[in-house]
Amino acid sequence: MATTTTRCAIIGGGPAGFTAAIYASRANLAPILIEGPQPGGQLTTTTDVENFPGYPDGVNGTQMMEDMRTQAKRFGADVRMGLITDIDFTRRPYALKLDNGDTIEAATVIIATGATARYLGLPDEEKFMGMGVSACATCDGFFYRKRRVAVVGGGDTACEEALYLSTLAEKVYMIVRKPFLRASKVMQKRLEDRENIEILYNCNTVSLYGGEVLEGAQIVEHAGTDQERRFDLPIDGFFLAIGHTPNTNLFKGKIDMDAEGYLKVNAPSTATSVEGVFAAGDVCDPIYQQAINAAASGCRAAMDAERFLLEA
Ligand code: NDP
Repeated sequence: MATTTTRCAIIGGGPAGFTAAIYASRANLAPILIEGPQPGGQLTTTTDVENFPGYPDGVNGTQMMEDMRTQAKRFGADVRMGLITDIDFTRRPYALKLDNGDTIEAATVIIATGATARYLGLPDEEKFMGMGVSACATCDGFFYRKRRVAVVGGGDTACEEALYLSTLAEKVYMIVRKPFLRASKVMQKRLEDRENIEILYNCNTVSLYGGEVLEGAQIVEHAGTDQERRFDLPIDGFFLAIGHTPNTNLFKGKIDMDAEGYLKVNAPSTATSVEGVFAAGDVCDPIYQQAINAAASGCRAAMDAERFLLEA
């Protein structure tokens, strides 16, 4: 039950957290970074990252995060595993309680806990993760050139993913549970112009099938009605676009957030509603949600923390 004091605690071990750690270490803040339940963050659930500048041949997502961790440690960042169970923002320094009983007392806190893509909860989603199942067309679409893919969801994200995939894949199905799309009209209009996109309305996915890799999905149309019909949809890729959930449970009632639970920041700074507490990456970004953006905002958060300490 040790207590450690730091000038900067960073919560989250994805691109935002590690970039913040690199900058904070180099600014002599001697940060402590706490990696959460998914070390490396969402990039470890993708295969190769090919859109992060500086890697002309792409890089494995897990390897990229390992490299960021090594880089942060090289400058002295104290990287720890653990789950934060409670934070006290009513006292200074702020007190972060860890699941092993330890406490970290921090003059500043950078929250980089990310967001979690929503999945349907099918038993085979996990089995085919990275082998056909993905929640990011921008990350993984390239691997499905001239193949058949499906996108689940009827919102703007699903439409964007379908449009993007339609430039690569031979055929794109959209699996939409309602008889209409929730997406904006302008987005719907764009879909109409793409001949290789087919929208399957009133459809839900029952299960996925395949051997080593995904081979198809079992679909039910008009479930629970007289018109109910079940059929197999042969596909190589199954993309979830049913939204993300920001990982902000710990901060409910403590830091201002929007209706979806994303932390509010005073852009262009990364300052949250609590003095000396900054946010970076997907936890405060419902729109772009790309590693490069997360890394960039991690840099900004570290610089904001440094300036805050200088002025304090
Ligand atoms: P949304 O919440 O808008 O849409 C989620 C979609 O997933 C809905 O069609 C929903 O269906 C469907 N869905 C949810 N759960 C399930 C489930 N269990 N099974 C099947 N389908 C399911 O999320 P988005 O990520 O699309 O968008 C988030 C926000 O970001 C929105 O405000 C959007 O407008 C914005 N955005 C804007 C963009 C732009 O303007 N370029 C691009 C991307 C996002 P149902 O409709 O039946 O509830």
